[in-house]
Amino acid sequence: MSSNPLERFGRSLSFRLNLWYALLFSLSAAALAATLYFLVAVTLERKDREVIEAKAKQLSTAYAAGGLNLLRAQAGNDTGGQAYYVRWIRPGRMDLILTIPDDWIKFPAVDPKNPQWLIPLPFIRVPKDAAEDFTLTSVQLLDGSLLHVGRSTHSREAVLQPFRRMFFTVMIPILLLGFGAGAFLSHRALQPVREVVRTARSIIDTGKLDARVPLRKSQEELDELARLFNRMLDQNQALIRGMRESLDNVAHDLRTPLTRLRGTAEAALRGGAEAGSAQEALADCVEESDRVLTMLQALMDVAEAEAGTMRLAREETDVCALVGEVIELYQYVAEEKKITVAADFPAPYFASCDPIRLRQVFANLLDNALKYTPAGGKVDLSVRREGAEVCVRVRDTGMGIPAAEQGRIWERLYRGDKSRSQRGLGLGLSLVRAIVQAHGGRVGVVSEPDQGAEFTVALPVG
Ligand code: ADP
Repeated sequence: MSSNPLERFGRSLSFRLNLWYALLFSLSAAALAATLYFLVAVTLERKDREVIEAKAKQLSTAYAAGGLNLLRAQAGNDTGGQAYYVRWIRPGRMDLILTIPDDWIKFPAVDPKNPQWLIPLPFIRVPKDAAEDFTLTSVQLLDGSLLHVGRSTHSREAVLQPFRRMFFTVMIPILLLGFGAGAFLSHRALQPVREVVRTARSIIDTGKLDARVPLRKSQEELDELARLFNRMLDQNQALIRGMRESLDNVAHDLRTPLTRLRGTAEAALRGGAEAGSAQEALADCVEESDRVLTMLQALMDVAEAEAGTMRLAREETDVCALVGEVIELYQYVAEEKKITVAADFPAPYFASCDPIRLRQVFANLLDNALKYTPAGGKVDLSVRREGAEVCVRVRDTGMGIPAAEQGRIWERLYRGDKSRSQRGLGLGLSLVRAIVQAHGGRVGVVSEPDQGAEFTVALPVG
């Protein structure tokens, strides 16, 4: 980008808009003035011709009625105070100028033998100089003689000339005014764009993501652009914050099992070559490594499902049977915690899905329900066909989820404030949502704190 401010201004959008505005404005003003000028000129010319024609008609009627004498008498009568040029020509014999105005131009002498003069002329305009001109016409009289009638038409010029002068003297100030007003308006209209550029530059230069475009109250498109730009910055900032938090969480969650793993291995090394304790330490190491691997696998599954690259081995599956298997799997845990698990699915309901992935979904939901429900509580699982969907509901009587957290529980690595005392990685629900969405289904939750929670998984039948 050029550092010369003048060059920068010349290339700026507001300058170019302004130039276009001024150009369009002057072209349309010129077109309007030209049309007006043309209409006025044509009207005046038509008027002049009508007057001359009327006089020529009056004189030919006089000639027909009273011959040359009456013609001579009538020619001298000025009509409307305007002196006429009247010339009577009998081809080959006579050429009489009957009247002539004082300012009349020298007109070429008519050669009465020249047959050209026998032909009645159309209107001709004879300019004398820039300010004065004359128009004349000729008519053929009944006996074949010719009558030329003309008069000065420079009154027309008297109207048109100031019009032309005015056009140039008025146009220049109007153009300057237009350019000035255009510059002001385009500068004002492009203010949000400049603010957007300033904000973007400040974020790039300082790395601070909290800069925002100052907003005006108007609803113009560019203000809307600034508003959307701010919203985009908000979303980016939230996303980056989320990613940082996720990274921190992953680092934190990996550190615990890895530290334990290292500690166990170190203690085993220090403990000498006792076969029994070494084996125990190795078993602990395997367990800790499994925990790390499970977490990494869950993270990868979520990433895969969210990116749409999760491969699903779909088959027609009885969803009720799947839920039944999962209940059986958790029966022991439920009994341990003294929680009643009730199943309610009156008929087998089939859906085209990946049974292994869906088992993961129901296991995560039931695992959570048992985890977040205190002893003596109840968990209900129901399966229903609703329209084109099979809906699985897992309802518990546990601690519930505050409204503020309900939108966030589906995020990767998010853990509710009150859940931190329980085991968990904060990946279960994000995996549930990712798998269900990969199947074309949807998830939802309804909950009140201390009133339990109800999770719904809706799967398309086809
Ligand atoms: P984790 O259970 O490992 O923390 P999840 O992704 O499975 O992670 O759940 C995210 C959060 O949602 C939990 O930390 C908890 O706050 C909340 N949650 C999930 N299921 C329930 C439930 N049945 N009752 C109350 N809170 C729940």
